[in-house]
Amino acid sequence: MKNDIALFGGTFDPVHLGHLRSAQHVRSVLSLNEIRLVPSLESPHRKHPESTVEHRLAMLRLAALDFPGIVIDDREIARGGLSYSVDTLESFRNEFGLRIAIYLIMGMDAFNKFDEWYRWRDIGCLCNIIVLKRPGNSSGFSSLMNRWIENSLCSLEQLQGRPGGKVCFVELEQMDISSTEIREALRRGLKPSLQLPTKVENYIQVHGLYQGGYVNA
Ligand code: ATP
Repeated sequence: MKNDIALFGGTFDPVHLGHLRSAQHVRSVLSLNEIRLVPSLESPHRKHPESTVEHRLAMLRLAALDFPGIVIDDREIARGGLSYSVDTLESFRNEFGLRIAIYLIMGMDAFNKFDEWYRWRDIGCLCNIIVLKRPGNSSGFSSLMNRWIENSLCSLEQLQGRPGGKVCFVELEQMDISSTEIREALRRGLKPSLQLPTKVENYIQVHGLYQGGYVNA
């Protein structure tokens, strides 16, 4: 098991089994001690989350209880302001040094717009990027991104031990789960039990999140 740093950023509004199982899978293929889920406080490229940061964090902490090796890292919340990934990666580099490998995990939907992220080329130098395919999300990169990918692309095997600068596309079992669909289902009074960890589903119910009422589907 390796102590490289792997982080999976997101809004987690709410965290679901697509996030958790993908993180577990990457942890296993890269033989990592842990994967950090890093919730954003305020994402620069998304609308304001529907539930409060306290609820999102509480659901993540509950979910992590049943997923060994998944750790919640609240540095973006503690930092305050807009949650720029480049700042987060710089804070990891300051903490762990230049030699350790850092992997930033993201779904294809996020990677398709990666060249809109603040200082995206710096992000690409600070870490390796692991892109997960998602159902219904084919790749659609700008020509600028295509050129950058051509120079950075490598396989999972080639990635091992490299501190940063590489991009790797990973074919996992694709899970057709998204927070948007979960929020919509809850709003319609449905129970998305197969998409959420039980502890998170119970938390949503107890706190009445994303809905008016909560009835059996
Ligand atoms: P929303 O539907 O609100 O956009 P989401 O389900 O995409 O939410 P986020 O918290 O926005 O969840 O996503 C955080 C990261 O997790 C992103 O990089 C996203 O691409 C990735 N991700 C989310 N769901 C999956 C999934 N089912 N499989 C692989 N990656 C996923």
